[in-house]
Amino acid sequence: MDEPVCTICGQPLDWITDLFEADILCRECREQFLVHKKIYQIQGICWCVLYEYNEWLERLLFQYKEQKDIALAPVFLYPYRKKIRKAFRNYDVCVVCSSEQKRLERGFEPVIEILKPQNVYSPLYKTRDRKQSSAKKSERNEIYSVIQRKMVYPFIHQSIVLADDVCTTGATLMASCRLLQPKKVFVLAAHPLWIEEHKGNVVTNQRWIW
Ligand SMILES: [Zn+2]
Repeated sequence: MDEPVCTICGQPLDWITDLFEADILCRECREQFLVHKKIYQIQGICWCVLYEYNEWLERLLFQYKEQKDIALAPVFLYPYRKKIRKAFRNYDVCVVCSSEQKRLERGFEPVIEILKPQNVYSPLYKTRDRKQSSAKKSERNEIYSVIQRKMVYPFIHQSIVLADDVCTTGATLMASCRLLQPKKVFVLAAHPLWIEEHKGNVVTNQRWIW
C-alpha cells in the first residue's frame, strides 16, 4: 500500500495520530499557514478572513495559479472544509471570475477549484486583469469599471456569500459587494496591511463558520 504523503512537500504523513482526522499536508507545511479566523463588519456585511497573507501563501498561490499546479487546490481549505460546507449551506456562493484572457491562459478558475465540491456561481466577471498589488490608490478606483455583473444570472436562494482568495486592498471585493449585495464575504487570505487598516472592524460577538 502506498504511504500517504504531503501534497506540498511529498514527505510521508506520520502525524495522523495527532489529529482527529488525517490532513493532506505534513505538520511543517500546515504550520506555515498563518491562521487568522477573524470576522469583520464592513458596511453592514460580515467578512470572514481565514488566513493572514504571508510569504508562504504568496509562494503557494503563485505555484497554484500561475504555474497551474492544480493539485494544490484542496490544501488551502482542507482542515475547514466541513465547517465551510455547513456554513455555506443556505447561501449562493459567488466568486469573481478572472478575465477571459486569464481564464484561457490558466484553463481553470482558481477560487472555484479551491471551494470544490461546493457549488459556485460566478455572476461577476473582470473585463480585464490588472495587478492590484502594484496599483496606486487612484488606479485602484478603476476596479469599479473592471468588475461587471453578467446581465442574466439566476439564483436558487436569496442570500449570497461572496468568496475570494486574496484580499489585498479590498477594492475588488468592495466593488463586487456593491454589485451583488452579499450577506457574507469569505476571504481565504487578507494582506497584513488590510488587516491593520480594518482592525477597528473586527467583531467578536458574531459567529460564522467557526
Ligand atoms: Zn509538507
